[in-house]
Amino acid sequence: MIPSSALPRTVTVRAPAKINCELRVGGLRRDGYHELSTVFMAVGLYDEVTVTRSPSWEVTTTGRYAALVPDGADNLALRAARVLASTMKAEPIPVSIRIDKEIPVAGGMAGGSADAAAALLACDALWGLRCDREQLLELAADVGSDVPFSLAGGIAVGSGRGERLAPVLAKGTFHWVFVVSSEGLSTPSVFAECDRLRADADADADADRPAPGPSSAVMTALRSGDPEALGKALANDLQTAALSLRPALRTVLDAGVEFGALGAIVSGSGPTIAFLTGSPEHALDLCVSLAASGVADEVTRAKGPVHGAHFIAVPSRV
Ligand code: ATP
Repeated sequence: MIPSSALPRTVTVRAPAKINCELRVGGLRRDGYHELSTVFMAVGLYDEVTVTRSPSWEVTTTGRYAALVPDGADNLALRAARVLASTMKAEPIPVSIRIDKEIPVAGGMAGGSADAAAALLACDALWGLRCDREQLLELAADVGSDVPFSLAGGIAVGSGRGERLAPVLAKGTFHWVFVVSSEGLSTPSVFAECDRLRADADADADADRPAPGPSSAVMTALRSGDPEALGKALANDLQTAALSLRPALRTVLDAGVEFGALGAIVSGSGPTIAFLTGSPEHALDLCVSLAASGVADEVTRAKGPVHGAHFIAVPSRV
């Protein structure tokens, strides 16, 4: 046990957004989740989470999307901190959690999961628990399906409900442009719409749907660091459902392709649209074209892969 005088008073961790280069949705499981196969990539849009010893538990949010984040027990960062405390049977000092929110909320980029992953890492250090990586990944999966990947970062195949990870070796850096919508989409409602559309198309199909797996086209493109091949291989089984709920996204997808994107996809459950480009200059050009065209609420760019949740402030001692 680390003496409390040796523990930090405050810790800051940064965690990245993700996109799904491929998202295959299998059948509905008995627990209500779908069997998934996804190829995650962590991209350089970050939330920063600072935890500080405090007389009481609280969450405050700053940054671009602060107004959209719940500040009570629903907040995923707070939930993650409490799961860590109860699982480790620690009697933790309460923490104040400050989230600097730069990842779109309900945008299909796992922003809440990033905050949860960051809170796990930060509270582990603040409380001196010294959980190992496997313990943190297991706790992360209890908090949410995308939280393990927010911890791990890089590129990984996710299976199960997305929480079982296998790292992917990839070459080079990929340059993305994102069109962010001012209004989010709820992940459960997009999965429900996917089920509804599938049931309409073929009432018997779900029971026979094979467990999905990653395509060789995506894996080969990543291994060879080939953005043209990856652009062609991008695939998302939730895209039709997201477009059904938000038809205006089709105009954004079409505009990006017309302006020269190598590939275009709804990010996860949407509504963020991700465009792949061939270089930083190409990404900048695409941003300018999309912004000037008026089809996009907000345009931003980031590269990937990047590291998962990591410390950015040297912890200060009591
Ligand atoms: P995913 O891609 O993992 O499906 P998402 O990016 O679409 O998720 P999030 O930004 O993670 O969506 O938010 C989903 C919901 O979680 C929001 O509607 C929000 O109310 C709630 N939420 C709870 N805590 C947070 C948090 N710290 N940041 C953002 N949203 C949070």
